[in-house]
Amino acid sequence: MCGIIAYTGHQDARPVLLDGLRRLEYRGYDSAGIAVINRRRIRHFKSAGKLAVLEQQLPENLAGKVGIGHTRWATHGAPNDTNAHPHTDHSQRIAVVHNGIIENATALRAQLADAGIACSTETDTEVLAHLLAQHEGKLIDAVRSVLLRVQGTYGVAAIDQRSPDTLVVARNGSPVILGIGDGEMLAASDMSALTRYTRDIIHLDDGEVAELTPAGFSVTTLDAHPSNKQTTRLSGVLEDYDKGGYEHFLHREIHDQAEIVRRSISGRLDQRFSTAHLGGLNLAARELLDVKRIKILGCGSAYYAGMAGAQMIETLARLPSSAEPAAEFRYRNPIIDSETLYIVVSQSGETFDTLAALREIQRKGGFVLGIVNVVGSTIAREVDGGIYMHAGPEVSVASTKAYTSMLTVFSLLALMLGRLKDVSPQRGAALIKGMAELPQAIDATLLLENSIAAIANKIAPASSAFFLGRTDAFPVALEGAQKLKEVSYIHAEAYPASELKHGPLALITEQTPCIVILPDNELLTKSISSLEEIKARGAPVYTFTDSADSRIEKLSDDVIRIPAVEFLFKPLLSGICLQLLAYHTALILDRDIDQPRNLAKSVTVE
Ligand code: GLU
Repeated sequence: MCGIIAYTGHQDARPVLLDGLRRLEYRGYDSAGIAVINRRRIRHFKSAGKLAVLEQQLPENLAGKVGIGHTRWATHGAPNDTNAHPHTDHSQRIAVVHNGIIENATALRAQLADAGIACSTETDTEVLAHLLAQHEGKLIDAVRSVLLRVQGTYGVAAIDQRSPDTLVVARNGSPVILGIGDGEMLAASDMSALTRYTRDIIHLDDGEVAELTPAGFSVTTLDAHPSNKQTTRLSGVLEDYDKGGYEHFLHREIHDQAEIVRRSISGRLDQRFSTAHLGGLNLAARELLDVKRIKILGCGSAYYAGMAGAQMIETLARLPSSAEPAAEFRYRNPIIDSETLYIVVSQSGETFDTLAALREIQRKGGFVLGIVNVVGSTIAREVDGGIYMHAGPEVSVASTKAYTSMLTVFSLLALMLGRLKDVSPQRGAALIKGMAELPQAIDATLLLENSIAAIANKIAPASSAFFLGRTDAFPVALEGAQKLKEVSYIHAEAYPASELKHGPLALITEQTPCIVILPDNELLTKSISSLEEIKARGAPVYTFTDSADSRIEKLSDDVIRIPAVEFLFKPLLSGICLQLLAYHTALILDRDIDQPRNLAKSVTVE
């Protein structure tokens, strides 16, 4: 979601800004812009649409060694040229880019109007430029004083043509990371825009402001107290991530999943005690034994992964476990107690609603674990303990490999908690074996791609589809429907098959494809009865199962036979099948697969 890149140094800013914006593109955006200081004058360019549109309108001679760039994901005002960032004051002395929402923008706009200053865009951001221009002093002082008047969330970067080598950035609720170079300084909302230039980074915390010049930086709080910041040196090979020969990131990321699961479990299977070893929990076995309940919070696919995780934990550890959308949880004044273990799940570690839920729980004294992919992200830094997913970068807006690694981490956690409570060493050993064999099972599942693509051909003309699954297949159905909606724009609903007759059956016609997830378990015969109900209404039925039961063939238009694995991993394999189904449907419909309309990666606004 929305991106910021800022540069001051010895290089020409324009290529650095454009490269940074290109690396942020995957987050999803609707318009883009840059501003540079060129001969003590701000020049800014912005346009709706993709970065390529912006690049076309940039003049050849746009030199300048300090600048800011932005990809916008509109919250206030249509995604058009005017509302795109950067925003400037009327004299064009100041330019500013902003991620987040200024909640008191209407009041600030009215105060500006009283001073005779009219805003010319619909955005909440524009007020910042005018307010900054009201200050005659140094930009850093202006930024501090203006932000003290602002309510809401921001990652913000500003330049002032009167101090042509200085950048000022600030953060409250929307990430800002500083990159320390040699004779140059950068700032960005996402590490991926910095790693080409430096390995030395600093995470700003909420309420901090940084002044950057080519010679260095200083970080202070909004009320001008110096902040002591630690530099983090990024280690290892920094992946230059591309499509790896696939046409889309989504397709690559689906195919990466055997390797991702291998990474997620690497070093975490404890053969000796038939359990999982999870280093960062910061909870001793004795403390874990005192846990009476588990509450999992996330948004979107992370929430659905949490639902699956809750079932895994409840089944293996016999602990009451449930998942809830983070944004709903935090606003319903939830009861927080010391016997519940709270788990927040977020790929980016910056999901605003999840972060806010985490802070609400901690404020009330709860202990929170994080399941996060991005190392050093805000959630990863603020939780009391956690498990990294090790899924590597995920670029496609629609989550696939991150979702799968969330499930993998939950199965490790369920095994570990299970072995503390209800699971015997023999059963634990069988689950460990199943986990170690999972990457091969994923590879075998990916070989089903052509047959799944043939089903995609049949559902592509539909305007609505149903995804059905019971118990542990229900979160899979939810995530499958979500994936289809996100990338193909076909309306999709998920139900436990048992619920059909209580309402949605009214919508089942010959035009409503039903995608049924049918794990081979004790509910198989009951689920087959649901197939009968759907078939009786003439709907096309596409069944994903690991059962060899011959009744399934008779009741289905197509059957995809998924490799049989331990019950714990069935949701993971059927989930991968549904990712392929969504991908191929979107491909047939020629959708913008990696950046679906209206959606953004890493949702850093409320
Ligand atoms: N609220 C601002 C706008 O709508 C910033 C949106 C963003 O984070 O990209 O312009």
